Amino acid sequence: MLKVTSDTTSIRSVAVIGSGLAGLTAAILLGHSGHHVRVFEKSRGPGGRMASKRVGEGSADIGAQYFTARNPEFHAFLEQWAGAAAFQEWQARFRFQDQTLHWQPFPEEKRYVGVPRMTAITRALSAHADVAAQVRIERLQRTGNQWQLLCSDGQNHGVFDQVIITAPPAQARDLLLESELGALASELANPVEQILPCWAVAAHYTQPPVADADAMRPHSDVLYWVANNSSKPGRDDSGQWWVLHATPEWTIAHVDAEPEQVSAALVKEFAALTGSAVKPGEAVAHRWLYARSAGGDQSGYLYDEENGIGLAGDWLAGGRVEGAWESATRLVAAMQ
Ligand code: FAD
Repeated sequence: MLKVTSDTTSIRSVAVIGSGLAGLTAAILLGHSGHHVRVFEKSRGPGGRMASKRVGEGSADIGAQYFTARNPEFHAFLEQWAGAAAFQEWQARFRFQDQTLHWQPFPEEKRYVGVPRMTAITRALSAHADVAAQVRIERLQRTGNQWQLLCSDGQNHGVFDQVIITAPPAQARDLLLESELGALASELANPVEQILPCWAVAAHYTQPPVADADAMRPHSDVLYWVANNSSKPGRDDSGQWWVLHATPEWTIAHVDAEPEQVSAALVKEFAALTGSAVKPGEAVAHRWLYARSAGGDQSGYLYDEENGIGLAGDWLAGGRVEGAWESATRLVAAMQ
């Protein structure tokens, strides 16, 4: 168990792999309980799939579009650790297209976004954690009762009592297999199958392409979601940046397509959907190989107490931003 033991003055050391919302939540909660925590992130900065891409003079949220805070403790956590200025309610006109292709409003619910961009939240959270960026952990090696963290060039990134893995399931499984933790890796077989890819495009319009909605879930084989990113609070764009997400099926069928072809196809479908003749001046595409979990059995977290390895992430608790937080919170509670 992860405890400050009475027979030693040393506090437990914990490595967290991944600095998305799950990893940062785990790091903050454990650090607040007095443990030594270091976060390792393979990308340049924190955020994971709560991502924003630099476009034009500003940025567009190309991963998570908004999040809920149905659990008031999640809202309180964000206020305490990210600060109230880092997120705001997105009061937008949300529509979905029903089977008969009529547009209906989304159910009433508070939907939040990072301000001035989605990454503002994880940036603010990361100020409360010790994050080593651009370090991809390839393997964990047992040394006595501890784990040594190794990256691809064999460099040793320290020795820890416990390790928390918050990578998406395919990456988590590879890491477990490399670390000779085959039994734990085998528990990830279904989650690996259930995670779906997504092509995302950010397209800039000088004239609004849509007059009566800010975010739409179409009934389409091609488009899963379209949203006016510039309608989110705190954005200061000239013109409008729209974010278009392809359906998982379309993404799978076009997974190796060139980004330019993907941008052209999604923009064309968007024009067909809205009937708008307005054309974008600029469009950029991003491919998410691991975007959203299709569901299935979700245990909240996984904890191999004997080996001192925990797994947390959205894919263990509902496949959304709030689920990533829930999963990390539950894992930390189980470990203490
Ligand atoms: P991640 O954010 O994926 O974090 C994992 C981190 O681990 C990453 O930063 C990764 O770089 C790092 N990592 C992986 N392997 C290693 C390694 N070996 N060493 C070091 N670092 C490693 N959710 C919603 O609630 N609402 C939405 O509208 C919504 N829309 C979405 C749209 C898209 C296109 C996508 C992609 C996701 C969307 N989601 C949405 C899902 C949401 O983004 C995720 O649920 C949430 O961000 C997951 O957080 P996480 O911490 O579990 O994982």
